[in-house]
Amino acid sequence: MIVLADDVVARHGERGGIFALRFRCMDDGDVHSSIGAEDSTGTVPGTVCFSRGPNDIRVMEFGSPDDRVRVVVVSSGGPDDRVAVAGGAHGRWNTTGYVRRDGRWEADSVHVVEMSRELSARTRGLFETIVLANKCVFIPGLGSVGSTVALELIKAGVGHELLMDYDRVETGNVVRHLAGLHDVGRRKTLVIRDAIRDKNPGAIIETFDRRVGWDTKDLVDRLVRQSDLVICAADTREARLILNRACIKNCKPLLVLGAFRRAYGGQILVVHPESGPCYQCFLMNLSHDERERPARPVEWTEPVAYSDGPVPIEPGLSNDIAPISQMVVKLSLQHLLRGHPTTLRSLDEDLVAPWYLWLNRREAQTCYEQLEPLGFGTNGMCILRWYGIAMQRNPACPVCGNYVIAASQAEGVAIDQSDVDVYASNKGV
Ligand SMILES: [Zn+2]
Repeated sequence: MIVLADDVVARHGERGGIFALRFRCMDDGDVHSSIGAEDSTGTVPGTVCFSRGPNDIRVMEFGSPDDRVRVVVVSSGGPDDRVAVAGGAHGRWNTTGYVRRDGRWEADSVHVVEMSRELSARTRGLFETIVLANKCVFIPGLGSVGSTVALELIKAGVGHELLMDYDRVETGNVVRHLAGLHDVGRRKTLVIRDAIRDKNPGAIIETFDRRVGWDTKDLVDRLVRQSDLVICAADTREARLILNRACIKNCKPLLVLGAFRRAYGGQILVVHPESGPCYQCFLMNLSHDERERPARPVEWTEPVAYSDGPVPIEPGLSNDIAPISQMVVKLSLQHLLRGHPTTLRSLDEDLVAPWYLWLNRREAQTCYEQLEPLGFGTNGMCILRWYGIAMQRNPACPVCGNYVIAASQAEGVAIDQSDVDVYASNKGV
C-alpha cells in the first residue's frame, strides 16, 4: 500500500506536474507512506506525477532512476477539483501506484488520507478546533513533563508552539521522556518537533536551543510577548523568576510546574498577570529558610514539601509524573479556550485555585507521612487527589505588587506619586 497525504495533492494537483517525494518504507516494504516523512532518514525516493489530461501515463515515463515508489494522479477536470481531493469516495482524481521490487515495477494500492479533516475528527464537538489552532504556547524546558505537555497540547489542537531547551537526550531520559533510544544525543527541541510533526504536520513549531537565563532575557521576553500562554517546565529558580517577571510585565498567563523528590508529588502554580499571586509572591510566602534554598543541590531539597524545590535528575516513575503533565494540559486548555462556549466550561468553577498540589504517596520524612491512608474515605487530606490551595497576592511583591507603597506604609515614610511612577517604570527591567 502507498499512503499519500491530501495536502500533497492539494499543493501540487492544481498546477499539475511531476514532484519528487520521499516515502517511509515500513513493515518490510508492505507500506510506503508520505505522511510524517520529514527527513531522509529511513525513507526511499519516489515521484508523484499529476496530470489534468491523459490518464495513460506509464510508470516508466517519469521520475528519477533511484525511485522506489511512483504514483500517477489523474484529474478528470472540473472547477471543484481542489475540494474533491484525490482518491476519496467523492474524489475526481484517479490514483495509480507502483512500487519497485527486485528491479520490477509492481502495481500497488494508493490510500489518500484527508489529513486535516481526520486529525480534528476526534475532538470536533468538544470545542471549535479553530480556536486552539490560532493559539501560541511558549514552553521552556522539555524534560519529561514539558515534552508531554507540548505533545498533548498539539493533540488537542493547539497550532503554534515555541519550544526552548538547551539540553540533549540522554539514555537515562528515555524511560520517562517521549524520546526513544534512537533519539539519544539529539537536541530535545528537535526530537519534540519531529514527534509533533508526526501528530500534526500543519502545526507551527519554532525551536530555540538555549537555556532560560539572564543572558537570554531579551529572547525570552520576545517569546513571551508572542505567546498566549507560557508553561515553565524549566528546572531552575532563575528560569522561573525570569519567566515570571516577563509574564507579569507583558500581561501573559504563566504556569509554573515542578515535581518533588523521587516524584512523590508535584505542584503547579497558576499565575494570572492581573490578579492572584505571582511566582515571586509564592517565594515570599514561603518560610525564610525555604526561600533561601536553591532548587539545587539535591540534598537541600530533601525536607522541602511546600516549596519550589523539584529535583530534575532524581529517580521517579513516569506514571508518577504523568498526573502533573495531564493537569498542566487541562489548565492550559481551560485558559486557551476562555471566553468560548465549549463543553469544558463547567471546569471554570472547579479550576479556580492559584496553586495545585498532588501527592503520589505518603512519603517518609515529609509532612505528608502521617496522612490518613486513602482507604475508602473521602474526608481529610489524602494521596492521589488534586488539592487547590488558596494564596493571596503579596502587596509588597517587587514584581506584581507595589513594593514602594507597601514598604513606605510599613516604615511610616511619606512618598509622592513620582516615587511610585519611577518604581513602576523600572519594574520590567
Ligand atoms: Zn507577585
